[in-house]
Amino acid sequence: MHVDVGARIEAVYAEVLRRNPGEAEFHQAVREVLHSLAAVLRKRPEYAEAKLVERLVEPERQILFRVPWSDDSGEVHVNRGFRVEFSSALGPYKGGLRFAPELALDTVKFLAFEQIFKNALTGLGIGGGKGGADFDPKGRSDAEVMRFCQSFMTELHRHLGEHTDVPAGDIGVGTREIGYLFGQYKRLANRFEAGVLTGKGTGWGGSQARTEATGYGTVHFVREMLATRGEDLTGRRVVLSGSGNVSLFALEKAQSFGAQVIACSDSSGYLVDERGLDLDLLKEIKLNRRARLDSYAEARPRAGFHTRGSVYDVPCDIALPCATQNELKEPHAVRLAKNGVKAVAEGANMPCTPEAVRVLREAGVLYGPGKAANAGGVATSALEMRQNAGRDSWTFEETEKRLAAVMRDIHADCVAAAEEFGTPEDYVLGANAAGFLRVADAMRDQGV
Ligand code: GLU
Repeated sequence: MHVDVGARIEAVYAEVLRRNPGEAEFHQAVREVLHSLAAVLRKRPEYAEAKLVERLVEPERQILFRVPWSDDSGEVHVNRGFRVEFSSALGPYKGGLRFAPELALDTVKFLAFEQIFKNALTGLGIGGGKGGADFDPKGRSDAEVMRFCQSFMTELHRHLGEHTDVPAGDIGVGTREIGYLFGQYKRLANRFEAGVLTGKGTGWGGSQARTEATGYGTVHFVREMLATRGEDLTGRRVVLSGSGNVSLFALEKAQSFGAQVIACSDSSGYLVDERGLDLDLLKEIKLNRRARLDSYAEARPRAGFHTRGSVYDVPCDIALPCATQNELKEPHAVRLAKNGVKAVAEGANMPCTPEAVRVLREAGVLYGPGKAANAGGVATSALEMRQNAGRDSWTFEETEKRLAAVMRDIHADCVAAAEEFGTPEDYVLGANAAGFLRVADAMRDQGV
């Protein structure tokens, strides 16, 4: 049977638009993947015949639920909870929970879709999902966050299980929230089912290096990309966006490889310290005090805190967007390219707009998409599940060694797939094709 791949891909996309009206982020994530898959299907028409792409773009299950809770003054609030269980072809649904005031189904769906390919790339037997709520933990007391998490889990628990669906953290959900969620799951299930959530405290089933893993992994990935051009991180000027876990631990790892990390940002502005950012001070401000970045400049007058322009205005060799989706736009990419950036790798999910990606690639910049570059977080979650299943716990060094190996393998798989279906430095094609082939083979083997 002859398949017109171009027409088939167009038809899949038209159906996605029809079924998911107004969901611009989901459309964006699907469009990018479909573009890569056209190259794969042309070489492997048997995948087109099996309608695997048509099946893959429709989530297996989408759960929307009410989350009522009362604040410290007794006032009742109602939020909306989400869990999109996108693909279980390779293992239990796996992906984080995001608590953010603007969160809508669109965002959760795009994140869950990306997660399928990212998780496939880890090679660790995990399917793709994502969830969260339109809840803003900022300014809420611990007791309020606890009541919210308990209410959220009261509904979600019936959909979870160590072999079914395994959430973790994402923006707004860290060890504190995972603790409250786990406590409520345990109460409802009457089981200490450690593998039902990842990102747990290290004293009760959490993995060493999980907190650091996304940021560390992103830097390992950059190192691999640079090595393909015979370069490394020593003495390189690095700029990061964000100042949460991903950003700060990317900073830590980049510094340990000898890079000069000079700028980072938060929602209030960006910070430049030409002599290199002081990581301990940043950790104290952002992770312990949960304060704004301007307090860094108060403590270190040599540093500049800016509320105008963008962190990407700072000339650098390497830029690591680690904040949120669509934050690095075309003008930022133009500026970065003009200033001679060599590599951009995504610590966040889909932080570069499609226009920005085009500019970077046309300028010959090495570009590592989040699906590959930030897979270290979820990979270490899978390592956490493995430790839980074996009632085992590994040292920090052991866990990090495995993380580094996973990132090296992901990089190699991306390069190999990019070479097979297009050009070697096309990491977008490489990540999408390598991830797709693993999922598609499992779907084909498991039948319709
Ligand atoms: N939220 C993270 C991500 O975007 C981690 C998910 C997980 O550990 O399950 O990949």
